Amino acid sequence: MKRILVTGGAGFLGAHICERMLDSGHKVICLDNLYTGSMANIAHLSGNPRFEFIEWDVCDPIDIAVDEIYNFACPASPPHYQADPIRTMKISFHGAINMLDLARKHGAKVMQASTSEIYGDPLVHPQTETYWGNVNSTGIRACYDEGKRAAETLFYDYHRQHGTNIRVVRIFNTYGPGMNAGDGRVVSNFIVQALGGDDLTVYGDGSQTRSFCYRDDLVEGIIRLMNAPDHVTFPVNIGNPNEFTVKQLAEVVLELTQSKSRLISLPLPQDDPTQRCPDISRAKEFLDWEPSVQLREGVLKTIAYFSKQRSEPSRLETR
Ligand code: NAD
Ligand code: UDP
Repeated sequence: MKRILVTGGAGFLGAHICERMLDSGHKVICLDNLYTGSMANIAHLSGNPRFEFIEWDVCDPIDIAVDEIYNFACPASPPHYQADPIRTMKISFHGAINMLDLARKHGAKVMQASTSEIYGDPLVHPQTETYWGNVNSTGIRACYDEGKRAAETLFYDYHRQHGTNIRVVRIFNTYGPGMNAGDGRVVSNFIVQALGGDDLTVYGDGSQTRSFCYRDDLVEGIIRLMNAPDHVTFPVNIGNPNEFTVKQLAEVVLELTQSKSRLISLPLPQDDPTQRCPDISRAKEFLDWEPSVQLREGVLKTIAYFSKQRSEPSRLETR
């Protein structure tokens, strides 16, 4: 039995990692300040004697003996990470340092939840891990993109300078049950809007692309990366390489919800990447991983989840 720390463990992805780790028989410490996460996400785990929740800000140092750390604390949705951009950068930077110091002290392995956003508005397509990216350092997305890039830098500097055992996963757009109705990202927005009979808010002309990965596929890839041989310290893309335009996604959601909602166009936010698709050759080669849930199946499962949630009031408004 390992002692596993999951920062951001009350969030969409973190809660599912906690669940998978408990299922594997480990002791799980979930550290979260509930900034965008919620106790509801981990309510079903709280009765497990191997589960512990600590309400804590990852910007503050903490000392607990652990074997593995999944550093997932950070708001991930643009409206949330842009609401307090200075704080977003602090969370990425100080959170990474605190978790790297903790890993160093206890000889733990530490994983950073990095992101496809480190590629910015990519000029290389699909994105390989060797691409250095195209980020506007002064734009409204930079607090997240540059924060995550700085965190990666810290991970590689701790690895080179102190021999810290690191893992870096670059996560591409992931969706699924457990997202907050008010999360603000496109899949949850469209499903919540379609179920409520509201217009689907397409930003720009909807021709920008994303490649949507179902939560369970993503978390499986993450766990395989954590358990990969020690030389797998390089960044690894985890995502679904099937690419869709935002408009295509809207049409799939309308069809699967059988909603009569219309599509309306809202302004495209600044620096919104025009295309995004992971090259997952590394994940295939080193983790023997590729996603198995395709968009329609995953969206159907997510629709079922939000249909159930509809009676519960959402804590945050969609933008
Ligand atoms: P989320 O917003 O649901 O979860 C983030 C969690 O971190 C929340 O529970 C929140 O309360 C917590 N948190 C935020 N600031 C904190 C702080 N200072 N101290 C402690 N806890 C804090 O988002 P998510 O989709 O689950 O994303 C989790 C991680 O994965 C993030 O680091 C995100 O950048 C990364 N990621 C996610 C995606 C995706 O598509 N879901 C894509 C790329 C990267
Ligand atoms: N988007 C949209 N309508 C929404 C929310 C998002 O058209 O209600 C678009 C957004 O402009 C972007 C894409 O969908 O082009 C994915 O946005 P999301 O916030 O989910 O993720 P990210 O931009 O971080 O990839």
